[in-house]
Amino acid sequence: MARRIDGKAIAASLRAALSVRVAGLAYRPGLAVILVGKDPASSVYVRSKDRAAREVGIAAHSLNLPVDTSEAALLAEIAALNADPAIDGILVQLPLPGQIRAQAVIAAIHPTKDVDGFHPLNVARLANGEVGLVPCTPQGVMKLLAATGITLEGARAVVLGRSAIVGRPMAALLLAANATVTIAHSRTSDLPGECRRADILVAAMGRAEMVRGGWIAPGATVIDVGINRLADGRLVGDVAFAEAALVAGAITPVPGGVGPMTIACLLENTVVAAEARRENENREN
Ligand code: NDP
Repeated sequence: MARRIDGKAIAASLRAALSVRVAGLAYRPGLAVILVGKDPASSVYVRSKDRAAREVGIAAHSLNLPVDTSEAALLAEIAALNADPAIDGILVQLPLPGQIRAQAVIAAIHPTKDVDGFHPLNVARLANGEVGLVPCTPQGVMKLLAATGITLEGARAVVLGRSAIVGRPMAALLLAANATVTIAHSRTSDLPGECRRADILVAAMGRAEMVRGGWIAPGATVIDVGINRLADGRLVGDVAFAEAALVAGAITPVPGGVGPMTIACLLENTVVAAEARRENENREN
């Protein structure tokens, strides 16, 4: 039976360490979270980010803009936050309404305040193996792997999914940690075969319980990023957990695996951004 990787507990200890780190600062890091419209799922995410930030001592500023906000108005809000010395991190909750281009908005966030790590400069830094702000979900996966003591160097890692927010940055981080990385997607010809070669399998497709027990190599580490709501209301991952747990060496549950790590890493990025900005200012003065 696989070892269950407890993301909730690992995230709680990360948040506790962040509280201590924030308490030792001479200032309070500030995080601005912008929500356009009232999408129920996005509202839940924004509220939990807000609460988690306050709990570690970060000053959270939530901005809820009307659903018909123009792109120009949102860009003006971002320009004001870029210039605001009390704000260290800016996060725009995705998806955005159709009249607003997400890429234009992401590119407008100052790269030093881009706590989601989606700005083209931070994307390029990650791709080049340089230091920058890293997207929260894949960063959370790396922390889960580290906390579980999984060896990455030389391991065969397979990432299912190639989105800009999960799959691609996930693959870049595993590569930077010296794993041998395969990225699979909807046009991959033999998905089960690719999965069976994995020492570390990261599933981020958004396909309920698609990865079956028979796709997993005995002893492999399985990280399930997927969050899927079934017709009966149950929340499941991309991996058929019960089957997979019989074969895998270690596995994350859904919920309680990757999800809590994403928010913890957002808080960490905010603290990192705050510290880096103050250091730069001190150097310039
Ligand atoms: P996207 O829809 O942007 O990307 C999904 C990826 O999976 C695409 O690259 C797609 O391939 C691939 N894919 C879809 N169907 C298949 C299939 N049948 N076979 C092989 N590959 C497939 O999703 P995200 O990356 O944004 O999110 C993925 C999942 O992770 C979702 O369930 C989401 O809810 C969850 N998530 C969880 C987070 C957390 O904190 N736990 C945070 C962010 C996301 P192609 O490119 O060819 O279309």
